[in-house]
Amino acid sequence: MFTIDAHLDLSMNAMEWNRDLRLPVSELRLREKGMSDKPDRGNGTVSFPELRRGNVGLVVGTQIARYVAPGNPLPGWCSPEQAWAQTQAQLAWYRAMEDDGQLKQVRDLAACEQHIREWNSTRPIGYILSLEGADSIVTLKHLEIAYSYGLRALGPAHYGPGRYAFGTDSTGPLGPKGRELLREMERLNIILDATHLCDESFAEAMDHFNGHVWASHHNCRSLVNHNRQFSDEQLKLLIDRGAVIGAPMDAWMIVPNWFRGKSTPGEMGCDLEKVVDHMDHICQLAGNANHIGIGSDLDGAFGTEQCPSDVDTIADLQKIPPILAKRGYTAADVENVMHGNWLRFLRKAWH
Ligand SMILES: [Zn+2]
Repeated sequence: MFTIDAHLDLSMNAMEWNRDLRLPVSELRLREKGMSDKPDRGNGTVSFPELRRGNVGLVVGTQIARYVAPGNPLPGWCSPEQAWAQTQAQLAWYRAMEDDGQLKQVRDLAACEQHIREWNSTRPIGYILSLEGADSIVTLKHLEIAYSYGLRALGPAHYGPGRYAFGTDSTGPLGPKGRELLREMERLNIILDATHLCDESFAEAMDHFNGHVWASHHNCRSLVNHNRQFSDEQLKLLIDRGAVIGAPMDAWMIVPNWFRGKSTPGEMGCDLEKVVDHMDHICQLAGNANHIGIGSDLDGAFGTEQCPSDVDTIADLQKIPPILAKRGYTAADVENVMHGNWLRFLRKAWH
C-alpha cells in the first residue's frame, strides 16, 4: 500500500553517518562492520531501495543541526552560523540526490498531487523538507531563505534548550524570540511540528500559532511515561486542531522501562503490535482514525538494536495494515493511516 513516512533523518544519515542511501541496506551494514563510533553502526534499516520496496513514495526528510551554549553536554555546534552551514550541507546532499534521480522535492500541492498520481517504484521518491530544531535559523531572514529552497515544516526545538524553544528533557517557555519565529512561520505557511516541544513551550505554541500543526513522530505518555511523549490532554488539543500524529519506531518510546544499550526488542516484546497500541490509543481519544499516521524516525540515531523486532528494514512498515485490519480497522481507515491522513492534512495546509 502507498505509504507516507513523515519523519526520516535522511540527510543526517548521509552526512554524519556517511551512508550512501542509494545502496541496499545489506551493503550499508557491511560497510559499517567493525565501526563503533555510533551505537547503531551496522544496524541501519533505511535506504532508497528499501523505501521503494516498501512502497514508501513520499517522506518528510529533515535537516538537523543543534547549537550548544557552553556547558550544554548535548552534541552540537558552537554557533548558530555553524549549525546553519551544516543544514546547507544537508540541503546540498538532497539536491545531489535530486540530480541523480533518486529524490524529488515536493513543495506545493500541485507537485504533491502529481507525484502521487505518477508514483511507482521506478520513479524518484518524493520528499518534503523539514527542519528538526530551529537553532540553525540564525535570523528570521534565514527562515525566509529556507522557505525559498523548499522548507515546509519546522519543529522549533529538539532535545534540550534551543534558541527559540525548549525541547525534550528541558523545560521553559518560547519567549519573545520563539513567538516571533512562530509568527514568521505563520506568514510563510510553514507547518509547525509540535514534536519535541517541552510541555511549557508546547502550550505556548498552541496559544500563539494559528497555522497548521502536526506532530511528525510522537507516541503516548499514558502508555510510556516520559516528557518526550504527549499526554492525553495534549493529544486532544492536537486532535481538535486537525493535527496528524506520526508513530515513531524508536523502542524506548514504544515500550516502558527500556534501557538504552542494554534492552533488546525481542526480550522487551517491542514489535509493531506495540506501535499500533499507541496509534490505537490516539484513535480512541479522537473517536476515529483520522489523526494518526507514520513518522517512523527509522535510523534516527538508532537501528535494529532499538526498533520493533519485526522491522528489519523500512519496507516492513507494510506489516502495519494487517495488524490494523485484525483489530477491526476498516479498509478506508487503514489507507488513511498509511497515507490518507497526511495527504488530507497537506491538501488543507497547501490549498
Ligand atoms: Zn526526533
